[in-house]
Amino acid sequence: MSSIPLPVRPAFTFPLSNGAPHAFAALGSAFFTRLPATPLPAPYVVGFSPETAALIGLPADAAMSPGFAEWFAGNPTREWSGDTLPLASVYSGHQFGVWAGQLGDGRALLLGEAEGPAGRQEIQLKGAGLTPYSRMGDGRAVLRSSIREFLCSEAMHHLGIPTTRALSIVGSDAPVRREEIETAAVVARVAPSFVRFGHFEHWFSNDQPDRVRELADHVIDRLYPGCRKAVNPYLALLAVAVERTALMVAHWQAVGFCHGVMNTDNMSILGLTIDYGPFGFLDGFDANHICNHSDNRGRYSYKNQPQVAYWNLFCLAQALLPLLGEGEAGVEAAQGILETYRGHFAGGLDRLLRAKLGLVEPREGDDGLANRLFEVMHANRADFTLTFRNLAAVSRHDARGDSPVRDLFLDRAAIDVWLAEYRTRLESESRDDADRAIAMNRVNPRFILRNHLAETAIRQANEKDFSEVERLLDVLRHPFDEQPGREAYAALPPSWASSLEVSCSS
Ligand code: AMP
Ligand code: MG
Repeated sequence: MSSIPLPVRPAFTFPLSNGAPHAFAALGSAFFTRLPATPLPAPYVVGFSPETAALIGLPADAAMSPGFAEWFAGNPTREWSGDTLPLASVYSGHQFGVWAGQLGDGRALLLGEAEGPAGRQEIQLKGAGLTPYSRMGDGRAVLRSSIREFLCSEAMHHLGIPTTRALSIVGSDAPVRREEIETAAVVARVAPSFVRFGHFEHWFSNDQPDRVRELADHVIDRLYPGCRKAVNPYLALLAVAVERTALMVAHWQAVGFCHGVMNTDNMSILGLTIDYGPFGFLDGFDANHICNHSDNRGRYSYKNQPQVAYWNLFCLAQALLPLLGEGEAGVEAAQGILETYRGHFAGGLDRLLRAKLGLVEPREGDDGLANRLFEVMHANRADFTLTFRNLAAVSRHDARGDSPVRDLFLDRAAIDVWLAEYRTRLESESRDDADRAIAMNRVNPRFILRNHLAETAIRQANEKDFSEVERLLDVLRHPFDEQPGREAYAALPPSWASSLEVSCSS
């Protein structure tokens, strides 16, 4: 990257000194601790997303400014005092189904807000040093996990899946101890809010319903103003959180994404995918796939995700209970809303799968058709992404276009049975093959962040070559396009990828 350096000041003081009231800070000091970031020595830019920059009013070449790395490492500590200091928020949560008590932003700091074309956005630095909530941690994040979070945040956005965004990765040679010594990095994350289910659980568990209410009011006023019009705005808040979470998980299932750590402190009240750790996109389809090496029992396996999200919403409902009505009436109201989860999820997934199969009109039996495909995929460990992508080549008239799908399956007879069923279903629609293929290629990605692609970018970045991070980001920016010359990014994983393990350590 080379270009004329921008003036540093006007571009980078805005999040802290634009004088605008900072909504989360207005909640009051019980909700957070203000503190500066811990400076990171000699920071350098590893990755940058121009689209996320635009969201917060930064120019597309902002990362070329000499001050950028310092700012987004959290280094300009002299500029911060009093009300302009960043803050770490307090939350609690259930981890792996067990109440974990107080957690909080152990390595994330909220810098402030910026007004952009899509409204106000919060800017958070992840890996910016110790906070009062760091517990046994060091407040840092390593380059490896930061590259994964950065790339996946942006990839998910371009796939049309609700997510927090990533502006930048800033690295440093400062050592960080994990299983081995690695180097530190800071990801600048951007989202309208970073409030988690765990923020509500925190005050509920501390028996402070007034704080639960303050937080709910903040979220409603700031993010869900429509809820105010409801008879009980807090019930409306729960309802919208249920709906958005259900749709988020439907998207995950439809694209083969495993989050890996669906603890209640990693669930966004906005239904955004948040806290990218040991996540993974499925290569060969295995419904029982566990992407988190530390998840011994598979609580967060691919197939369990919809049920776990429901369980997490249950925790949220419990935390909101004091606001939902008196006694039994409140419980019944909450249960009624939780019951809508199944419909939102199933409806969302049906719609997504119908589009993935290229079907226009819903018909009885469509879910069975999709399920039978998943069964054959599972039995054959057929590649999730390529199976769906290649379905666009199947013709409604004859089997001549079957081979791109067929070749992904060892058991040809089994996939032939399914393809025959699929063809019969396609024949019942009026859309021709060409139009269907165009529509399917808009919803079935060709490019996803496969583990081995991230790993290649990480290995090169560890050698100080960041060009693959930039190239991969560019590939993932257009997941539905053919991108001639980039076929390798869409290919099946190489044999070395099967030994990759993703641990919780980040
Ligand atoms: P996670 O499962 O990564 O979302 O993190 C769970 C909790 O541990 C959160 O409170 C994090 O802030 C905290 N945490 C994770 N890693 C670190 C670290 N290296 N230093 C301090 N806190 C951490
Ligand atoms: Mg977390």
